[in-house]
Amino acid sequence: MTLPESEASAAPTPDDSLALAARAGIHRLAIPTPFAVGRVNCYLIEDDPLTLVDTGPNSGKSLDELEQALAGYGRTIEELELIVLTHQHVDHLGLLEILARRSGAEVAAFHELTGYLANFSASAAADDEFAQTIMRMHGVPEDLATVLGSVGSAFRVFGSSGRVTHPLHDGDTLALRDRRFRVLHRPGHSPSDTIFFDEDRRILIGGDHLLAKISSNPVMSRPLAGDATSVRPPALLNYIESMRATKELPAELVLPGHGEPITDHGSLIDERFRMHQRRARKVLGIIAAGPVTAYEIALAIWGNVAVTQAYLTLSEVLGHLDLLIRDGQAAQTESDGVIRFESLEPAAH
Ligand SMILES: [Zn+2]
Repeated sequence: MTLPESEASAAPTPDDSLALAARAGIHRLAIPTPFAVGRVNCYLIEDDPLTLVDTGPNSGKSLDELEQALAGYGRTIEELELIVLTHQHVDHLGLLEILARRSGAEVAAFHELTGYLANFSASAAADDEFAQTIMRMHGVPEDLATVLGSVGSAFRVFGSSGRVTHPLHDGDTLALRDRRFRVLHRPGHSPSDTIFFDEDRRILIGGDHLLAKISSNPVMSRPLAGDATSVRPPALLNYIESMRATKELPAELVLPGHGEPITDHGSLIDERFRMHQRRARKVLGIIAAGPVTAYEIALAIWGNVAVTQAYLTLSEVLGHLDLLIRDGQAAQTESDGVIRFESLEPAAH
Protein backbone atom coordinates (compact mmCIF):
# COMPACT_ATOMS: atom_id res chain seq x y z
CA MET A 1 0.00 0.00 0.00
CA THR A 2 1.30 3.47 -0.87
CA LEU A 3 0.41 6.76 0.69
CA PRO A 4 -1.84 9.05 -1.31
CA GLU A 5 -0.04 11.80 -3.22
CA SER A 6 -1.34 14.56 -0.93
CA GLU A 7 0.56 13.17 2.08
CA ALA A 8 3.84 13.86 0.33
CA SER A 9 3.02 17.53 -0.22
CA ALA A 10 2.31 18.19 3.46
CA ALA A 11 5.55 20.19 3.79
CA PRO A 12 4.80 23.87 4.48
CA THR A 13 4.97 26.19 1.48
CA PRO A 14 7.08 29.39 1.63
CA ASP A 15 3.85 31.34 2.11
CA ASP A 16 2.87 29.15 5.08
CA SER A 17 6.30 29.73 6.58
CA LEU A 18 6.18 33.49 6.09
CA ALA A 19 2.69 33.51 7.64
CA LEU A 20 4.04 31.58 10.63
CA ALA A 21 6.84 34.12 10.99
CA ALA A 22 4.35 36.98 10.69
CA ARG A 23 2.26 35.51 13.51
CA ALA A 24 5.44 35.68 15.58
CA GLY A 25 5.73 39.35 14.62
CA ILE A 26 8.53 38.84 12.09
CA HIS A 27 7.96 40.25 8.60
CA ARG A 28 10.20 39.68 5.60
CA LEU A 29 11.09 42.83 3.67
CA ALA A 30 12.73 41.78 0.38
CA ILE A 31 14.86 44.73 -0.71
CA PRO A 32 16.44 45.02 -4.19
CA THR A 33 20.23 44.86 -4.65
CA PRO A 34 22.34 45.59 -7.74
CA PHE A 35 23.99 42.16 -7.32
CA ALA A 36 23.48 38.84 -9.10
CA VAL A 37 21.98 37.34 -5.94
CA GLY A 38 18.83 39.45 -6.39
CA ARG A 39 16.87 40.73 -3.41
CA VAL A 40 18.11 40.64 0.15
CA ASN A 41 15.76 39.71 2.98
CA CYS A 42 15.58 42.17 5.85
CA TYR A 43 13.26 41.29 8.72
CA LEU A 44 11.09 43.68 10.69
CA ILE A 45 10.42 42.41 14.19
CA GLU A 46 7.36 43.95 15.82
CA ASP A 47 8.53 44.02 19.40
CA ASP A 48 10.00 46.40 21.92
CA PRO A 49 12.43 47.71 20.75
CA LEU A 50 11.12 47.82 17.18
CA THR A 51 13.83 45.88 15.37
CA LEU A 52 15.14 45.59 11.82
CA VAL A 53 17.49 42.73 10.94
CA ASP A 54 19.85 43.85 8.13
CA THR A 55 19.35 46.99 6.07
CA GLY A 56 19.85 46.31 2.35
CA PRO A 57 22.59 47.95 0.26
CA ASN A 58 23.37 51.64 0.16
CA SER A 59 21.32 52.79 -2.82
CA GLY A 60 18.40 55.15 -3.38
CA LYS A 61 16.28 52.36 -4.83
CA SER A 62 16.86 50.13 -1.80
CA LEU A 63 16.11 52.95 0.63
CA ASP A 64 12.95 53.80 -1.26
CA GLU A 65 11.71 50.20 -1.28
CA LEU A 66 12.62 49.71 2.36
CA GLU A 67 10.52 52.74 3.31
CA GLN A 68 7.60 51.43 1.29
CA ALA A 69 7.93 47.96 2.81
CA LEU A 70 7.96 49.44 6.33
CA ALA A 71 4.94 51.58 5.45
CA GLY A 72 3.14 48.35 4.52
CA TYR A 73 3.32 47.51 8.24
CA GLY A 74 2.44 51.04 9.30
CA ARG A 75 6.05 51.81 10.24
CA THR A 76 8.65 54.41 9.35
CA ILE A 77 12.43 54.41 9.42
CA GLU A 78 12.29 57.00 12.22
CA GLU A 79 10.47 54.49 14.46
CA LEU A 80 13.22 51.85 14.30
CA GLU A 81 14.84 51.36 17.70
CA LEU A 82 17.28 48.52 17.05
CA ILE A 83 19.17 47.45 13.94
CA VAL A 84 20.70 43.96 14.05
CA LEU A 85 23.31 42.86 11.50
CA THR A 86 23.82 39.26 10.38
CA HIS A 87 27.22 39.83 8.72
CA GLN A 88 29.63 42.19 7.02
CA HIS A 89 28.51 42.03 3.37
CA VAL A 90 27.36 45.27 1.75
CA ASP A 91 23.96 43.97 0.61
CA HIS A 92 23.12 43.42 4.29
CA LEU A 93 24.42 46.59 5.88
CA GLY A 94 24.77 49.34 3.28
CA LEU A 95 21.95 51.52 4.59
CA LEU A 96 23.20 51.32 8.18
CA GLU A 97 24.52 54.86 8.43
CA ILE A 98 21.38 56.44 6.94
CA LEU A 99 18.94 54.35 8.97
CA ALA A 100 20.84 54.83 12.23
CA ARG A 101 21.05 58.57 11.71
CA ARG A 102 17.38 58.98 10.84
CA SER A 103 16.06 56.70 13.59
CA GLY A 104 18.67 56.97 16.33
CA ALA A 105 18.40 53.17 16.59
CA GLU A 106 20.89 51.12 18.56
CA VAL A 107 23.07 48.86 16.41
CA ALA A 108 23.76 45.26 17.43
CA ALA A 109 26.40 43.28 15.54
CA PHE A 110 29.13 40.70 16.09
CA HIS A 111 31.75 42.40 18.27
CA GLU A 112 34.53 42.10 15.71
CA LEU A 113 32.50 44.28 13.35
CA THR A 114 32.82 47.25 15.71
CA GLY A 115 36.24 48.13 14.35
CA TYR A 116 35.41 46.97 10.83
CA LEU A 117 32.41 49.30 10.56
CA ALA A 118 34.04 52.26 12.31
CA ASN A 119 35.72 53.01 8.98
CA PHE A 120 34.11 50.87 6.32
CA SER A 121 36.05 52.17 3.33
CA ALA A 122 39.38 51.53 5.07
CA SER A 123 38.22 48.00 5.98
CA ALA A 124 37.02 47.35 2.43
CA ALA A 125 40.33 48.64 1.06
CA ALA A 126 42.19 46.23 3.35
CA ASP A 127 39.88 43.42 2.15
CA ASP A 128 40.72 44.27 -1.46
CA GLU A 129 44.42 44.26 -0.71
CA PHE A 130 44.05 40.87 0.97
CA ALA A 131 42.21 39.56 -2.11
CA GLN A 132 44.99 40.83 -4.38
CA THR A 133 47.64 39.05 -2.31
CA ILE A 134 45.68 35.80 -2.33
CA MET A 135 44.97 35.93 -6.07
CA ARG A 136 48.63 36.51 -6.98
CA MET A 137 49.77 33.83 -4.54
CA HIS A 138 47.46 31.32 -6.21
CA GLY A 139 48.39 31.94 -9.82
CA VAL A 140 45.91 34.58 -11.02
CA PRO A 141 47.74 36.60 -13.72
CA GLU A 142 48.93 40.03 -12.57
CA ASP A 143 46.82 42.09 -15.01
CA LEU A 144 43.66 40.11 -14.28
CA ALA A 145 44.14 40.55 -10.52
CA THR A 146 44.51 44.30 -11.06
CA VAL A 147 41.31 44.55 -13.13
CA LEU A 148 39.35 42.49 -10.61
CA GLY A 149 40.69 44.67 -7.81
CA SER A 150 39.14 47.77 -9.36
CA VAL A 151 35.82 45.95 -9.84
CA GLY A 152 35.93 45.04 -6.15
CA SER A 153 36.50 48.60 -5.01
CA ALA A 154 33.56 49.79 -7.15
CA PHE A 155 31.27 47.73 -4.86
CA ARG A 156 32.38 49.74 -1.82
CA VAL A 157 29.87 52.50 -2.56
CA PHE A 158 27.06 50.10 -1.63
CA GLY A 159 28.51 49.69 1.87
CA SER A 160 28.44 51.88 4.93
CA SER A 161 30.27 52.72 8.11
CA GLY A 162 28.36 52.62 11.35
CA ARG A 163 28.69 52.67 15.11
CA VAL A 164 28.00 49.32 16.75
CA THR A 165 26.43 50.28 20.09
CA HIS A 166 25.68 46.71 21.16
CA PRO A 167 28.60 44.36 20.38
CA LEU A 168 27.45 40.71 20.33
CA HIS A 169 29.42 37.64 21.37
CA ASP A 170 28.83 33.98 20.62
CA GLY A 171 26.39 32.60 23.19
CA ASP A 172 24.89 35.97 24.15
CA THR A 173 21.17 36.43 24.59
CA LEU A 174 19.51 39.24 22.69
CA ALA A 175 16.34 39.95 24.65
CA LEU A 176 13.41 41.95 23.31
CA ARG A 177 10.22 42.42 25.35
CA ASP A 178 8.43 39.38 23.89
CA ARG A 179 11.26 37.11 22.83
CA ARG A 180 14.84 36.07 23.42
CA PHE A 181 17.33 35.21 20.71
CA ARG A 182 20.38 33.08 21.34
CA VAL A 183 23.24 34.75 19.45
CA LEU A 184 25.48 32.23 17.68
CA HIS A 185 28.65 32.98 15.73
CA ARG A 186 28.77 30.82 12.60
CA PRO A 187 31.79 31.85 10.49
CA GLY A 188 32.17 30.44 6.99
CA HIS A 189 30.20 32.43 4.45
CA SER A 190 31.92 35.43 6.06
CA PRO A 191 34.01 35.71 9.24
CA SER A 192 31.24 37.65 11.02
CA ASP A 193 28.22 35.43 10.23
CA THR A 194 25.89 35.58 13.21
CA ILE A 195 22.59 33.74 13.56
CA PHE A 196 19.75 34.42 15.99
CA PHE A 197 17.76 31.55 17.45
CA ASP A 198 14.41 32.02 19.17
CA GLU A 199 14.33 28.77 21.16
CA ASP A 200 10.71 29.16 22.30
CA ARG A 201 9.35 29.58 18.80
CA ARG A 202 12.08 27.49 17.14
CA ILE A 203 12.64 30.23 14.60
CA LEU A 204 16.17 30.89 13.38
CA ILE A 205 17.16 34.11 11.65
CA GLY A 206 20.06 32.84 9.61
CA GLY A 207 21.48 35.58 7.36
CA ASP A 208 23.49 33.98 4.55
CA HIS A 209 24.67 31.05 6.69
CA LEU A 210 22.09 28.81 4.99
CA LEU A 211 20.23 29.60 1.78
CA ALA A 212 17.65 27.30 0.21
CA LYS A 213 18.53 27.50 -3.48
CA ILE A 214 22.15 28.63 -3.60
CA SER A 215 24.99 27.16 -1.60
CA SER A 216 26.47 30.08 0.33
CA ASN A 217 29.96 30.57 -1.04
CA PRO A 218 32.51 30.37 1.72
CA VAL A 219 34.35 33.43 0.40
CA MET A 220 37.97 33.79 1.43
CA SER A 221 38.07 36.73 3.77
CA ARG A 222 40.61 38.69 5.70
CA PRO A 223 40.50 37.72 9.39
CA LEU A 224 38.63 40.40 11.35
CA ALA A 225 40.89 40.16 14.37
CA GLY A 226 44.58 40.98 14.08
CA ASP A 227 46.21 42.55 11.07
CA ALA A 228 47.42 39.55 9.11
CA THR A 229 47.32 40.39 5.41
CA SER A 230 48.11 37.06 3.81
CA VAL A 231 47.06 34.43 6.35
CA ARG A 232 44.06 32.77 4.80
CA PRO A 233 41.49 31.35 7.24
CA PRO A 234 40.17 27.98 5.99
CA ALA A 235 36.71 29.34 5.11
CA LEU A 236 35.16 26.05 3.98
CA LEU A 237 36.47 24.07 6.96
CA ASN A 238 35.08 26.76 9.26
CA TYR A 239 31.85 26.74 7.34
CA ILE A 240 31.44 22.97 7.59
CA GLU A 241 32.06 23.14 11.34
CA SER A 242 29.49 25.93 11.63
CA MET A 243 26.90 23.98 9.64
CA ARG A 244 27.50 20.94 11.81
CA ALA A 245 26.64 23.02 14.89
CA THR A 246 23.58 24.55 13.22
CA LYS A 247 22.31 21.11 12.23
CA GLU A 248 21.94 20.31 15.94
CA LEU A 249 19.62 23.27 16.58
CA PRO A 250 15.97 22.25 16.94
CA ALA A 251 14.86 24.94 14.49
CA GLU A 252 11.56 24.48 12.66
CA LEU A 253 11.92 27.53 10.48
CA VAL A 254 15.02 29.27 9.14
CA LEU A 255 14.56 32.79 7.81
CA PRO A 256 17.47 33.33 5.40
CA GLY A 257 19.16 36.42 3.97
CA HIS A 258 18.06 35.63 0.42
CA GLY A 259 15.20 33.59 -1.03
CA GLU A 260 12.52 31.53 0.67
CA PRO A 261 12.32 30.22 4.24
CA ILE A 262 13.83 26.81 5.03
CA THR A 263 11.80 24.23 6.95
CA ASP A 264 14.19 21.28 6.89
CA HIS A 265 17.62 22.68 7.59
CA GLY A 266 19.00 19.27 8.59
CA SER A 267 18.55 17.74 5.14
CA LEU A 268 19.69 20.94 3.46
CA ILE A 269 22.93 20.82 5.47
CA ASP A 270 23.42 17.11 4.63
CA GLU A 271 22.95 17.99 0.97
CA ARG A 272 25.64 20.69 1.27
CA PHE A 273 28.04 18.22 2.90
CA ARG A 274 27.55 15.76 0.03
CA MET A 275 28.07 18.52 -2.53
CA HIS A 276 31.35 19.59 -0.93
CA GLN A 277 32.57 15.99 -0.87
CA ARG A 278 31.74 15.64 -4.58
CA ARG A 279 33.54 18.85 -5.47
CA ALA A 280 36.57 17.90 -3.40
CA ARG A 281 36.80 14.61 -5.32
CA LYS A 282 36.67 16.52 -8.58
CA VAL A 283 39.53 18.77 -7.46
CA LEU A 284 41.48 15.69 -6.38
CA GLY A 285 41.11 14.28 -9.90
CA ILE A 286 42.52 17.47 -11.42
CA ILE A 287 45.58 17.70 -9.17
CA ALA A 288 46.45 14.05 -9.86
CA ALA A 289 48.06 15.21 -13.14
CA GLY A 290 50.78 17.11 -11.26
CA PRO A 291 51.34 20.26 -9.23
CA VAL A 292 48.94 23.02 -10.32
CA THR A 293 47.87 26.37 -8.96
CA ALA A 294 44.38 26.94 -7.57
CA TYR A 295 43.74 29.28 -10.50
CA GLU A 296 44.61 26.52 -12.99
CA ILE A 297 42.24 24.19 -11.17
CA ALA A 298 39.47 26.81 -11.37
CA LEU A 299 40.12 27.21 -15.12
CA ALA A 300 39.90 23.44 -15.59
CA ILE A 301 36.52 23.37 -13.80
CA TRP A 302 34.87 26.60 -14.94
CA GLY A 303 36.74 27.85 -18.01
CA ASN A 304 35.97 31.51 -18.65
CA VAL A 305 33.93 31.89 -15.45
CA ALA A 306 37.20 31.34 -13.58
CA VAL A 307 38.44 34.52 -15.28
CA THR A 308 35.42 36.79 -14.76
CA GLN A 309 34.68 35.42 -11.27
CA ALA A 310 38.27 34.65 -10.34
CA TYR A 311 37.95 35.40 -6.65
CA LEU A 312 34.76 33.41 -6.07
CA THR A 313 35.95 30.38 -8.01
CA LEU A 314 39.36 30.58 -6.33
CA SER A 315 37.61 30.67 -2.93
CA GLU A 316 35.66 27.57 -3.89
CA VAL A 317 38.73 25.65 -5.08
CA LEU A 318 40.86 26.62 -2.07
CA GLY A 319 38.03 25.54 0.23
CA HIS A 320 38.09 22.07 -1.28
CA LEU A 321 41.89 21.93 -1.28
CA ASP A 322 41.79 22.71 2.45
CA LEU A 323 39.47 19.71 2.89
CA LEU A 324 41.82 17.45 0.89
CA ILE A 325 44.88 18.64 2.81
CA ARG A 326 43.12 18.11 6.14
CA ASP A 327 42.27 14.56 5.06
CA GLY A 328 45.85 13.85 3.96
CA GLN A 329 44.92 13.55 0.28
CA ALA A 330 46.73 16.63 -1.03
CA ALA A 331 49.77 18.77 -0.25
CA GLN A 332 50.92 22.24 -1.20
CA THR A 333 54.35 23.54 -2.19
CA GLU A 334 55.52 27.09 -2.64
CA SER A 335 58.07 28.46 -5.06
CA ASP A 336 58.70 32.10 -6.00
CA GLY A 337 55.69 33.18 -3.98
CA VAL A 338 53.27 30.96 -5.92
CA ILE A 339 51.53 28.02 -4.26
CA ARG A 340 50.86 24.76 -6.12
CA PHE A 341 48.90 21.71 -5.07
CA GLU A 342 49.41 18.05 -5.77
CA SER A 343 47.67 14.80 -4.97
CA LEU A 344 48.99 12.42 -2.33
CA GLU A 345 46.70 9.65 -3.54
CA PRO A 346 48.41 6.73 -5.29
CA ALA A 347 48.02 7.18 -9.05
CA ALA A 348 45.15 5.23 -10.55
CA HIS A 349 46.06 2.44 -12.98
ZN1 LIG B 1 26.66 37.51 2.45
